[in-house]
Amino acid sequence: MAATPLDLFDLDASLTDEERAVRDTVRRFVDDRVLPHAAEWFRKAEFPWQLVPTFAELGLLGAPIATHGCAGMNPTAYWLALRELERADSGIRSFVSVQTSLVMVPISLFGSDAQKDRWLPALQQGKAIGCFGLTEPDAGSDPAAMRTRATKTGDGWRLTGAKRWITNGTRADVAVVWAKTGDDANSIRAFLVPRGASGFTQTPMERKLSFRCSDTADLCFDDVRLPDDALLPGTKGLGSALKCLFEARGGIAFAVCGSAAASLQCAIDFAKERVAFGKPIAAMQLVQGKLATMGVELAKAQLVALSLARLKEAGRLEPVQVSIAKMNNVRCALEITRTCRDILAANGITEEYPVMRHMNNLETVSTYEGTSDVHLLVIGQFLTGHAAFRG
Ligand SMILES: Cc1cc2nc3c(=O)[nH]c(=O)nc-3n(C[C@H](O)[C@H](O)[C@H](O)COP(=O)(O)OP(=O)(O)OC[C@H]3O[C@@H](n4cnc5c(N)ncnc54)[C@H](O)[C@@H]3O)c2cc1C
Repeated sequence: MAATPLDLFDLDASLTDEERAVRDTVRRFVDDRVLPHAAEWFRKAEFPWQLVPTFAELGLLGAPIATHGCAGMNPTAYWLALRELERADSGIRSFVSVQTSLVMVPISLFGSDAQKDRWLPALQQGKAIGCFGLTEPDAGSDPAAMRTRATKTGDGWRLTGAKRWITNGTRADVAVVWAKTGDDANSIRAFLVPRGASGFTQTPMERKLSFRCSDTADLCFDDVRLPDDALLPGTKGLGSALKCLFEARGGIAFAVCGSAAASLQCAIDFAKERVAFGKPIAAMQLVQGKLATMGVELAKAQLVALSLARLKEAGRLEPVQVSIAKMNNVRCALEITRTCRDILAANGITEEYPVMRHMNNLETVSTYEGTSDVHLLVIGQFLTGHAAFRG
């Protein structure tokens, strides 16, 4: 064991055998079956649905859950797996993040036994696909401003409203939909809306320049009638939705080290080969300065990610720490991909190299699960005691 260009602090040495085994298994799968096609899926804006059964076989769907046939992986092992998927494409990693942290975890945390029995095994086996509908056309960073309403009727609920930018939304068999049941954010509850419910439409969002291989949808609820047991009974206010995001954001902070590392490796290889002014650009001081800075930034991001995972394992992870890690690591990954693109110069804009695809994808990762602004405000509130979200 020793420092390597993509692991300058030899964090690999601190992983358990089990964590390393999960990582290596997913790494082989990504090398063999994902990386060779990632650029094409991005270009064609196609999600590789054929891989879903393998995600299930690898134990990735619902990985941190310990019941209903799920793998019960520790956070580090699961997040290492996400990092490997992200090495290929953030859009592919997001399928697993959403299915797991934003669909299966809420059902596991807030669902009735009947809901868990109905959905968790099917979602774990990849026989059902799920999505998480919080964002609306006019409410993103401020989900308390949502307009989607669930109104109680004699024998159930009527759901009216719209959700936008919903990952896995076109194909989802079940949508976890957040709606107000009264006037304020305390009245927000989640409902399980099955595909095919009358008045429920799932429309793909097209012409994206980022997350092209990811399925992103508009969901519309036109007076959808739901039975009483569509309500996730444990959800109580916006805090329940934020708890799900808390679960997902940690994985994202860890995962983005994958796209950053893939881009840096690509830039190092390119710089060793590319000759200018009679020698490889890797031997130029200015290029080395960029590569060295990126190596250091990646090492720092990986230290943050691993600390986050170990805090989660110890049951001590706090929201402010997740905000710091999500904001810092996505910023760092974006900056790395931009600098790598710069080193690759003209070649960097082609799909022959993964750098610009990762860069474009990270623009989405920077926006979803809380923008940098939102996380700065969370951190600022922790430091000062003042909530400055409203200016
Ligand atoms: C590809 C993709 C997939 C997604 N998947 C999902 C999904 O599966 N489910 C889901 O529910 N959502 C999903 N989202 C939506 C995502 O979570 C939102 O885009 C995000 O929360 C930001 O909301 P917004 O785009 O409406 O931006 P806005 O909230 O309108 O923000 C616009 C700008 O204003 C800034 N801003 C907002 N409030 C403040 C403030 N108080 N102070 C300072 N600046 C502020 C923001 O940082 C941003 O720069 C996805 C988005 C994308 C692009």
